[in-house]
Amino acid sequence: VTTTGKMISSRLPPLPTIGEIIKLYKLRAKKQLSQNFLLDLRLTDKIVRHAGNLKNAYVCEVGPGPGGITRSILNTGIAELLVVEKDTRFIPGLQLLAEAAPGKMRIIHGDILTYKLERAFPKHFQNMWEGDPPNVHIIGNLPFSVSTPLIIKWLENIANRNGPFVFGRTQMTLTFQKEVAERLTASTGSRQRSRLSIMAQYLCNVKSCFTIPGRAFVPKPKVDVGVVHFVPLVQPQINQPFKLVEKVVRHTFSFKRKYCRRGVETLFPEAQRLQLTEQMLCIADVDPTLRPGELSITQFRALSDAYNQLCSENQNLFTYDFREELRQKKLLHKPNNQRNVR
Ligand code: SAM
Repeated sequence: VTTTGKMISSRLPPLPTIGEIIKLYKLRAKKQLSQNFLLDLRLTDKIVRHAGNLKNAYVCEVGPGPGGITRSILNTGIAELLVVEKDTRFIPGLQLLAEAAPGKMRIIHGDILTYKLERAFPKHFQNMWEGDPPNVHIIGNLPFSVSTPLIIKWLENIANRNGPFVFGRTQMTLTFQKEVAERLTASTGSRQRSRLSIMAQYLCNVKSCFTIPGRAFVPKPKVDVGVVHFVPLVQPQINQPFKLVEKVVRHTFSFKRKYCRRGVETLFPEAQRLQLTEQMLCIADVDPTLRPGELSITQFRALSDAYNQLCSENQNLFTYDFREELRQKKLLHKPNNQRNVR
């Protein structure tokens, strides 16, 4: 504690700048891996502020790279920080940071898509699902090619309360390509409304925090970046298995600009297509001439419930695959000599 009464114990001691770290360890960004770094600590502080109050928190940072966001996290008075980085080149620079914050930071050299985060979080941070979110946070600026599959995986984990969510409603603050961030947060009827909007919003309170212009990164990516904050809901807005919701939403959006009826039809085998589509929309009380983007989460809940009811009445319906039926049909119409006979 200083004479002014300010706590200084959680602040990092003076360190080389991120730019110097990059030079020192020859960390040239690999374009093919979409590595774009944030060197401006005011920006990394801003991202971390949007994660909420991190005092005494357990934080996992995914893809720390040269460690800009890492420094901002370490400066917030966290209890512990776990970083998961895939690229070996960054490990020495991260070790330098870990030495500057003794006992606070653990480095995992691994792939976040396969790393079992649930094993890494300390048990005493666990909170009841129905209670407040645990003091556990995930923060990351990952390549776009990783952040989208990762959020889909984590949304399924939220639905099943496993993975990083065995600890309760773990909050996440993640970056995405701006267009993806817009889809995640898009409201009913907006141009960006898509599958991702429904999947994220039926499970989470999703908030768009701010946009980082591409020019803030080194090297500069072609697109701007959106920071998005997720808090899992106590009660998901749709109470059906994740895979069922995912199927209904995917099919309904398969003809984005057409009436929703057109996409819903693809849930059913040709022989019963029209009858079951009409039945499903009627049970759900959804106007067949609405476009998929005009449907609210409540309407997707009704559609998922209706589809579940039809699946329980029609054996094998859930496993029916529209694309497979199309493929078979095409095969049948091919001349004999072009068929792939095994
Ligand atoms: N967070 C740093 C920043 O903001 O400056 C680096 C951002 S860079 C866009 C993405 C980082 O994620 C890189 O360091 C990259 O090596 C790492 N990364 C990429 N794929 C990963 C994965 N599957 N698991 C863990 N880290 C990954």
